[in-house]
Amino acid sequence: MRLQKASKSSKQERHPCPICSTETTLSEIAPHPLHVNFEVRGYVCEQCGPVKSLVVLRSPLHA
Ligand SMILES: [Zn+2]
Repeated sequence: MRLQKASKSSKQERHPCPICSTETTLSEIAPHPLHVNFEVRGYVCEQCGPVKSLVVLRSPLHA
């Protein structure tokens, strides 16, 4: 599993679809089933549907 550290940068992250390279949109954020300090973000491509998810460190500001 790949982990991506949450960035404090405010610049827009880009998440192109791995299939068609269209920019995906963040569709859902769910708590990680095993690690309470992480959350799972699901990305959806408008052409391919839900194509990937990222596990990121939850922001302590939102705890
Ligand atoms: Zn796609």
